Amino acid sequence: GATIGILGGGQLGRMLSVAASRLGFKTHIFEPSTNPPAGHVADRVTAAPYEDVEALADFAASVDVITYEFENVPTSALDMLESVRPIRPNRKALAVSQDRLVEKAFLNDLGLKTAPFAAVDDEVDLAEAIDEIGLPAILKPRRFGYDGKGQARLKAPEDAAQALADMAGAPSILEGFVEFSHEVSVIGARGLDGAVSCFDPGENVHKDGILDTTTVPARLTPAQRTDAVLLAAKILNKLDYVGVMGVELFVTREGLIVNEIAPRVHNSGHWTQNGCVVDQFEQHIRAVIGWPLGDGTRHSNVVMENLIGDDVDRIPDYAKEGVAIHLYGKAEAKPGRKMGHINRITGPAN
Ligand code: ATP
Ligand code: MG
Ligand code: MG
Repeated sequence: GATIGILGGGQLGRMLSVAASRLGFKTHIFEPSTNPPAGHVADRVTAAPYEDVEALADFAASVDVITYEFENVPTSALDMLESVRPIRPNRKALAVSQDRLVEKAFLNDLGLKTAPFAAVDDEVDLAEAIDEIGLPAILKPRRFGYDGKGQARLKAPEDAAQALADMAGAPSILEGFVEFSHEVSVIGARGLDGAVSCFDPGENVHKDGILDTTTVPARLTPAQRTDAVLLAAKILNKLDYVGVMGVELFVTREGLIVNEIAPRVHNSGHWTQNGCVVDQFEQHIRAVIGWPLGDGTRHSNVVMENLIGDDVDRIPDYAKEGVAIHLYGKAEAKPGRKMGHINRITGPAN
């Protein structure tokens, strides 16, 4: 069988490796840090920095296709890898999702709503952006953010100086604060043949900026559900995307507003492991290897709960309940670290 190269060895890379293995493929992980979660299940791991051109070349030559679970791979490494093997999802998808400013402009060009936004590089920009967008607002670094890290909330003009200081000189974006009733996400997939299949939207609750639970079905009207799936398909098609993507949405009285897109399998799609015939990880592997997409129909109602830090101490209790347990094999339970998740089936799909 073929070998799939995966950039990044975290829990997403681990679960992609498991799915690939179930389909008879081998995986080779490229991950700078030592002892990554995916290392225990992959067929091969290369532990080298993204600057190591020789290691990258050997990695690329050893695989049939390259995918990723981590979107901040340096451009130089991607250039090198792409000269040897196809990268799926493609470079355009990465470029768009790596930079919040480019991402929002792309989404607006597609006719999709986002929070109002403005680029901020200094205090003059910030003052102008506040004038234009109003408060409350959120200042975010354009690149490298996850789990809400590095974001500053502005309630009053006096908050501007501290918020800018929090950016530590990084190019930033001011976003108007969206008054949403709740958050949902669509996990969409597009095959090499252009077929699109979206999982049922999930409803997401965050705690301290980190995803806490995803519940399916989400609270959405039939029209909103259709909107959510169609807008995800629009994004996938425009990018000529191959693989699975997470699309985070705010539900508001003015309709669905796109928060951000992630060009990879997504934490809010973990419920699919126990709620669907084919889950997001298998769907992604199918797409990048060129198989037809599988049947992502939801057969159950599910609540996914993330196990963050010490939450993992509850495993003995969960082990006595009728829930599916997924652990990432991480040695140390630090605060804020994603250690695993559980999927609780709450009934047949409705
Ligand atoms: P991740 O990639 O892990 O989802 P992130 O660091 O990219 O996190 P965002 O998704 O931008 O962070 O923001 C985290 C959360 O903060 C959102 O899920 C939402 O709850 C809230 N939030 C972000 N931007 C806005 C906004 N413009 N208006 C209202 N709430 C927001
Ligand atoms: Mg993000
Ligand atoms: Mg987010």
